[in-house]
Amino acid sequence: MGINREALKEKIKRMRDPSSRFGDSDLWRPDQEGNLETVRFLDNPFTDDDPFIQLFFHYRIGKGRHILCPRKNWGKTCPICEWAKSIVNNNPEDKELARDLWPKQRFFGVIVDRKDPTLTPKYYGFGQKNYFQLIDKLHNAEYRDYMDPLKGIDVTVKCQKEMGETGKPQMYPTTTFDFSRRDTRLADTDEKIQEILNKIKRIDEIFKPMTVAEIKERLNEWLQWQEGDSLAEGEETRGVNEPEDSFEEDEKEPVSVEEINAEFEKALSESEATA
Ligand SMILES: [Zn+2]
Repeated sequence: MGINREALKEKIKRMRDPSSRFGDSDLWRPDQEGNLETVRFLDNPFTDDDPFIQLFFHYRIGKGRHILCPRKNWGKTCPICEWAKSIVNNNPEDKELARDLWPKQRFFGVIVDRKDPTLTPKYYGFGQKNYFQLIDKLHNAEYRDYMDPLKGIDVTVKCQKEMGETGKPQMYPTTTFDFSRRDTRLADTDEKIQEILNKIKRIDEIFKPMTVAEIKERLNEWLQWQEGDSLAEGEETRGVNEPEDSFEEDEKEPVSVEEINAEFEKALSESEATA
């Protein structure tokens, strides 16, 4: 008793159906298998100079959403960064783990998915390479108005794991953007356009900063749980029960990884100097 098979079937069907991504989630992510998606980027009414928002996250620490790093985002104390530095100081062999825990950069833009009949604006997170491409287009005479609701341009997004040099698929998918050459209106009527634009949310409604105490709690929980669970199980031990609407860490891009490493080495040398 208690098991409602019909309801379960329905639930699984919804999870498999790509249109389930149009649900309540405020975040969008492209299909990861290389199927083409078409989106329209929108200007963010809540930002000044740059329509895209840069945030830094600690990925895969315990259950729940990725953690906004207080240090990288707001120059405050971050228990996870402190801990990452301390484990390396205590044991240099843990450097890889510490590097993995280091905050990673992510950019967010507002889009509507053309397959979504309601055209509800969502935040879409991507890496630095894609960010540069989107900024480049803002400086390109032919494409500069691509976000304009009346004479803008739709963008095709393709996201898939490419073959690495070793002949094996890469661990993280690569995202490519293709800008349509044809101008299109965001929606048929001016009223509908205004309705869509009015629905854009502030990013801080979606990613709420955790307090230092909350971050410490998550970190401690994760550490305790990790001790009881062998690390040999690899990635499984890190990625636990992320909510469906969380975004993936993808696109490990050479530029940002080098930057992370450089920053990490710098932080280490500073903490060694003060030790
Ligand atoms: Zn941090």
